[in-house]
Amino acid sequence: LEEQVRSLQASTPRKYLKVKYLNYKNRKRILITGGAGFVGSHLVDDLMIQGHEVIVVDNFFTGRKRNVEHWLGHENFELIHHDIVNPLFIEVDEIYHLASPASPPHYMYNPVKTIKTNTMGTINVLGLAKRVMAKVLIASTSEVYGDPTVHPQPETYWGHVNPIGPRACYDEGKRVSETLSYAYAKQEKVQVRVARIFNTYGPRMHMNDGRVVSNFILQALRNETITVYGNGQQTRSFQYVSDLVDGLISLMASNYSQPVNLGNPQEQTIEEFAKIIKRLVGGHSKLQQTKAMEDDPQRRKPDITRAKNWLNWEPKVPLETGLQQTIAYFRNELMRSDRYQES
Ligand code: NAD
Ligand code: UDP
Ligand code: UDP
Repeated sequence: LEEQVRSLQASTPRKYLKVKYLNYKNRKRILITGGAGFVGSHLVDDLMIQGHEVIVVDNFFTGRKRNVEHWLGHENFELIHHDIVNPLFIEVDEIYHLASPASPPHYMYNPVKTIKTNTMGTINVLGLAKRVMAKVLIASTSEVYGDPTVHPQPETYWGHVNPIGPRACYDEGKRVSETLSYAYAKQEKVQVRVARIFNTYGPRMHMNDGRVVSNFILQALRNETITVYGNGQQTRSFQYVSDLVDGLISLMASNYSQPVNLGNPQEQTIEEFAKIIKRLVGGHSKLQQTKAMEDDPQRRKPDITRAKNWLNWEPKVPLETGLQQTIAYFRNELMRSDRYQES
């Protein structure tokens, strides 16, 4: 048997993306909770290529092994199937805490679990960081501003959140997550970083996550009706995932501990956004207004002065370039799922 295993290994050597060699002093052990998800998996790629050891903890609620499968077996990579609501004992230098459902249909699917993940899960992450003296970055969200009365939103704005509405499990969960971070920073001297992430899109987004980017692209690719919720005059500002990942890494490396907005300030109405996607995809989909979402934030645009000043960061990828990449990804995914159904 041993011989068979050895010959198998020899006949199928795995090819990995090239990673930098870092000596022991510069190589960090980095935990990414939610690392098998959309944003997390791109962060994994960047940190692996930089030469660090990366440990992903994920319960695969919305994440997929496929997002990180190109690293499975690499000596610097480890994938742990674990729910962060339960304690976790490992030794690491840095933690990016991304575990949480992120799209409205996903976080509303089981609101209690969403709250547990963002409260108990964050306590476990901060308890771990305290024990091993790791630096922690918390993935917060523009949703902490709720349906904002200040526009664009600076980090100093306290927000306008309905505490008992359908989005509350996520919004309030993330607000507690932030509160916990600063409590651990003050009381236990944990080094925390808080990123308030605005709408982000790109390859590896979940096909059926119900978010506007995936819905509109799939509808356009399938020549189906493009569903604009409400009158389409609500706005969002979309950032490409590689810009976000650069921002997260810069924030972790910085010595700035207050919350920082990471987003692209280019704002458009959802109706305009539908038209852009339709133009880029082609096809003959029609736009149709459907029922508005309850408590849907009406305007959203980040004020990124802080990120510019403290991190020297700003988004680089223009909307159309990022959308082209994302459309190509979804087109490929559709072909893949068609093939899967045929076989
Ligand atoms: P995603 O759903 O693709 O990734 C989240 C990951 O967390 C998934 O892999 C999921 O399986 C995992 N997860 C969920 N609950 C868990 C639990 N209890 N234990 C362990 N793993 C768990 O979403 P994403 O878009 O990659 O978002 C990543 C983070 O960024 C989230 O914290 C989200 O709130 C935040 N964020 C994202 C956006 C965005 O536009 N994508 C905007 C604001 C904030
Ligand atoms: N925790 C963890 N991993 C660790 C250290 C702590 O998951 O390496 C959990 C621990 O189980 C606890 C939580 O983090 O539920 C908070 O830890 P802390 O030390 O702050 O609180 P305490 O254990 O004193 O309640
Ligand atoms: N939206 C839409 N049609 C869809 C999905 C979403 O018009 O098929 C709208 C939604 O009402 C919101 C915006 O697009 O105003 C962004 O929604 P998404 O769920 O992507 O993220 P949010 O920013 O609300 O968390």
